[in-house]
Amino acid sequence: MKNRTLPPTIAKWAAKNQNRIDEIEMEFDESGEEHEGPWSAWCYLEPGYMCEIMGTHIIHESTVRMFMDATKHIIPCDCDDCERAMKEAA
Ligand SMILES: [Zn+2]
Repeated sequence: MKNRTLPPTIAKWAAKNQNRIDEIEMEFDESGEEHEGPWSAWCYLEPGYMCEIMGTHIIHESTVRMFMDATKHIIPCDCDDCERAMKEAA
């Protein structure tokens, strides 16, 4: 089950960072339930960006604070996957 309503703090960040976000959604899942729950947030970054601390192109966190912490570590990425995706989008 998915709840597409983002917490206000995340929604505000997403609105300001649309150029770096491909998709963002909330999901009720076990990861969320283990923390403040019951949700976790998935943020798929646009090609050309990655999250340095997660080491992936996706941010997946289950509290607003952890999510916002992760957003501070979004860095430009020029890995093969990003380069290919950027070429395809161009
Ligand atoms: Zn990349």
